[in-house]
Amino acid sequence: MEKIKKAVQILKHSRFTTAFTGAGISVESGIPPFRGKDGIWNKYDPEALDISYFTENPEHSWMIIKELFYDYYNSAKPNPAHLALARMEREGLLGRVITQNIDNLHQEAGSRMVFEFHGNLTKLKCLSCFKKYNVPEISLDHLPPTCRECGGILKPDFVFFGESIPQDALMASYEAAGLSDVFLIIGTTGEVMPANQIPPLAKQNGAIIVEINPEPSHYTNMVTDLYLQGKASEIMKEIEKGLFPASLDNDQYRID
Ligand code: NAD
Repeated sequence: MEKIKKAVQILKHSRFTTAFTGAGISVESGIPPFRGKDGIWNKYDPEALDISYFTENPEHSWMIIKELFYDYYNSAKPNPAHLALARMEREGLLGRVITQNIDNLHQEAGSRMVFEFHGNLTKLKCLSCFKKYNVPEISLDHLPPTCRECGGILKPDFVFFGESIPQDALMASYEAAGLSDVFLIIGTTGEVMPANQIPPLAKQNGAIIVEINPEPSHYTNMVTDLYLQGKASEIMKEIEKGLFPASLDNDQYRID
């Protein structure tokens, strides 16, 4: 509780806060992470998401991708951690969300300043003519799905291993690492390059690093100033109560 109070103070007094999120923030929405105890890579080979493998084996890659990402499409909903970040933005306490996630849950929660380091799964792109489709327009009953215009293979429009990071997200992330006096890292191992370079850069530029994760990450002993050990939704609910005390019950958090 003391650590949460401290986090609330840090966030309240911050001039510009950036949230940097990874797969862990969506675990309580029912989407498994790649790494860790219940991680996807304990079951599947990561090559399914390698661009070279995909172009040579689109049917096999798609079978895995469909199970990983599209079978839950529309059923996963934002959890209290996504909602708390959206509220912080609305109330002027959060400048930006930089997410490594592709699940669109920050936007569904109401966050607007979202920069997706690895793209988004809501669109499919033709590898031949580059036409884009919204996922509901395309049947995934027969894999791989193909383009209605040219018959080319459709690929999810998120970043595969071996592909470049979208330029706008990259620029926004470097900018945030320079602008922010607080970086709130939630649910990421910090093992994925080059995204994992952003929090250390923020630290170098003077940001206070607050981290939420049930397990220590690559960042915890390297850059984190305040480590809140626990699940994203539970900790963010407490932080939200502290930031927006609605009743006398929350007086313990009030900062004068
Ligand atoms: P990761 O899979 O490497 O690590 C997940 C992290 O979340 C771990 O540190 C774990 O301890 C933590 N975690 C588990 N449960 C949590 C909870 N309830 N609350 C908070 N944290 C929790 O995730 P990553 O570092 O983000 O890297 C994997 C890459 O895979 C991402 O860059 C992303 O592109 C992609 N990915 C995205 C999704 C998604 O969009 N939801 C899901 C899986 C993977």
